[in-house]
Amino acid sequence: MRYPEQREQVVRYGIEMESTGLTVGTAGNVSVLVEDGIIISPSSMAYRETRPEDTILMDLAGNVLEGERMPSVEHKVHLAMYKARSDVKAVIHAHPTVATAFAAARIEIPGFLDEFGVYVGDAVRVAEYAISGTDEIADNVARAMGETSHAALIASHGMVCVGKDLASAFHVCQQVERTALIYVYAKMLGGPVELPQSSKDLFAQVFAYKRTV
Ligand SMILES: [Zn+2]
Repeated sequence: MRYPEQREQVVRYGIEMESTGLTVGTAGNVSVLVEDGIIISPSSMAYRETRPEDTILMDLAGNVLEGERMPSVEHKVHLAMYKARSDVKAVIHAHPTVATAFAAARIEIPGFLDEFGVYVGDAVRVAEYAISGTDEIADNVARAMGETSHAALIASHGMVCVGKDLASAFHVCQQVERTALIYVYAKMLGGPVELPQSSKDLFAQVFAYKRTV
């Protein structure tokens, strides 16, 4: 079995995702880039019951190279992220309550907090709706994320976060969910005040720099 360490990480972050409420049941999935392709969590398997050997090694064309189980149905979304961006080394797809409410309402989460601009990007845009598991949804998510964000919402479904490793992608997921909740509260208080353009420019520069290191 190749990549035992990365398989262990995929299992660990699946458990972490469920235990922190970023998803429920077997929903969502986790992957990490390796030399031959990606290691991705299996389809329809409880995170706490998943063992490293249950994860799947697949190449970037979507062929299973190693693994007995079916790869997650959303593997095309994961593959599209790695193909679209050379800085993406890990992908997490989750269904957290508040961010998924934005995905259901098809409202993007704007960048109105300092930390958001640095870690998540300019905004979390909503990918155009398409059926789960299709090439179309994969293309739509890659387009919504673009080059200026580490996350996107999947219309009527959930969210996708990326990073240079699983710890970073997980942090992005947490930031997006937290910001979505703060946005709802801020709206009740009259709406968040927009950041000055100079701050947005600075955060965009830091975000772009962090992508390269
Ligand atoms: Zn999903």
